[in-house]
This record gives sequence, structure tokens and C-alpha cells, in this order.
Amino acid sequence: AEPSDDAPTIFDKIINKEIPSKVVYEDDKVLAFRDITPQAPTHILIIPKVRDGLTRLAKADEKHIEILGYLLYIAKVVAKQEGLEDGFRVVINDGPSGCQSVYHLHIHLVGGRQMNWPPG
Ligand code: 5GP
Repeated sequence: AEPSDDAPTIFDKIINKEIPSKVVYEDDKVLAFRDITPQAPTHILIIPKVRDGLTRLAKADEKHIEILGYLLYIAKVVAKQEGLEDGFRVVINDGPSGCQSVYHLHIHLVGGRQMNWPPG
């Protein structure tokens, strides 16, 4: 089920460094760290440091347009940093049908192997 908009998630603890993560990129707006259950040789999560109501993409408002674009741009920056010049995939899982498990919007950056389509 979908938690309430102000329920904290595990990502708050990762942002605050209360639990460790393998950070690959950080600035004042976003954090990128390795997924604890990687689905490919490279599997990185890119998240806004301030959730600001953005539990899931379906909750996006006009005020989120700038951070949404920035997250996607940082996905490209990190893909280059990871050496994924042959290609990669970015995914946002939204809501129950989209298999979202953490309600703090995040982009999955996945690569380092051949991806398949359709994803299933
Ligand atoms: P979702 O299913 O919501 O799209 O993706 C959540 C992702 O967060 C999953 O791929 C899961 O492996 C990852 N994840 C959950 N808890 C942790 C954690 O404590 N540390 C890290 N690095 N990743 C986590």
C-alpha cells in the first residue's frame, strides 16, 4: 500500500548518513548511491535530497519540474562517470502497479549489461 506523504523512508536515513551507502555523486540538491540489491553490474539510485511531496512521480506538481529535469541530467552525468558509453537504462517505478517500494521519488540508473525490452 502507499504510505502517507509525510511518512519518512529509508532514503532519509541515507541522505542524513545515518545508515551507510556507497555514494557515487552528491551535490546540494541530489544524492546518487549504489542500490543495495543491484539488478545489473551498475545499479544506482538518484534521489532529491528534499522530497518536497515527491513521494512518487504521480505526485509531481509544477514546482517539481526543475528537480525532475535535474535528476535526469544527473543520471547522464553518473552514467558517464560509470563508463556506460555503450548505453544504459533509467527507470522510475511509480506506485503499486509500477513496483515502487520506497516512496521518495528516485531514478534507477541501470547498466553494464545488455538490457531487455519489454521489461515485463
Ligand atoms: P523501487 O522499488 O521503490 O523503485 O526501488 C527502491 C530501491 O531501493 C530497490 O531497488 C532497493 O533495492 C533499494 N533499497 C532499499 N533499501 C535500500 C537501502 O537501505 N540501501 C540501498 N542502497 N538501497 C536500498
